[in-house]
Amino acid sequence: AAKAAGRNTLVVFDPDDPESSDDSEDIAATLKIALERGLVSLVYQPIRNVQTGKTDAVEALMRLTMLDGTPVPPVKFIPVAERTGSIVELGRWAIRTVCRDLLATDLIQVASVNVSPIELKTPGFAAYVAATLAEFGVTGARLAFEITEGVELEIDQDVVRCISDLRKLGAQVWLDDFGTGFAGLSWLRLIEFDTVKIDRSFLHDCDTERGKRMLLDIIGLLRNRGVRILIEGVETIEHQRLMQQYGINQIQGYFIARPAPAAQLEADNVLPFSRVRNHDSKRLFGN
Ligand code: C2E
Ligand code: MG
Ligand code: MG
Ligand code: MG
Repeated sequence: AAKAAGRNTLVVFDPDDPESSDDSEDIAATLKIALERGLVSLVYQPIRNVQTGKTDAVEALMRLTMLDGTPVPPVKFIPVAERTGSIVELGRWAIRTVCRDLLATDLIQVASVNVSPIELKTPGFAAYVAATLAEFGVTGARLAFEITEGVELEIDQDVVRCISDLRKLGAQVWLDDFGTGFAGLSWLRLIEFDTVKIDRSFLHDCDTERGKRMLLDIIGLLRNRGVRILIEGVETIEHQRLMQQYGINQIQGYFIARPAPAAQLEADNVLPFSRVRNHDSKRLFGN
């Protein structure tokens, strides 16, 4: 893109555009061997319940490192995984890992997993979730699936059916990044979400009155729909206070905690992942 734009043109690197970097073939190849080589991992970010002040949920976020140890951010590798189809296998691994990690703590009620529309459209997704829950003896209510509004996705019958199958398992379905795409309102009309996550850009616009009014309008709309409201990107104590004042149900962001591996959250006393694991490790990791 830089060459085509000519010499005197400033080309801004767009991290959301996988084609703007030329290492996408490297990433595609790495994704193919990522599971067997242990190049993917999950980090967890605490989600705080504003009413109780407790962390009772976490979001699982995937991490990838190249063979030479270089980390690749999800905005770079997720689109490649979606394009090449690797996302299906990686997504299943994530669900499995989350179920295993949930067994290690009874204090975290819910773990959310981001799912790509491609996964939802792949036949057998809900059946895989059902089998994995059964295998680990985890109840469906402890899993939430985050679907991003931002992606281009026609809400076809396959997706609607998959979502309804997941809900039948007792799992929650959350709408992620609300307000960033064009389809958000259609999604709200067609699908019953347990929680809507408002995109952090709306919180970060709250330094102006205009931004505050916009966020309050969105909150009003969602409250009338009867969904729980979570806001991401809480980076300061002022953010937290404002969200408390606005009656947001759950908050997530760097001010509360950064995403980190379960073991680190446990060591830093952020999350008690080890509670059950200590006396139940055979059953958990004996395979
Ligand atoms: P997301 O689901 O909206 O996740 C939230 C992103 O915001 C995460 O970036 C998180 O690290 C970041 N974040 C958390 N708190 C703050 C904050 O206070 N301020 C700011 N500026 N950012 C914050 P991350 O981990 O780089 O993930 C980026 C996106 O990649 C995710 O956005 C999600 O759409 C996608 N993704 C991550 N893991 C997976 C996965 O396992 N499967 C799929 N399909 N997509 C994933
Ligand atoms: Mg998410
Ligand atoms: Mg989000
Ligand atoms: Mg996001």
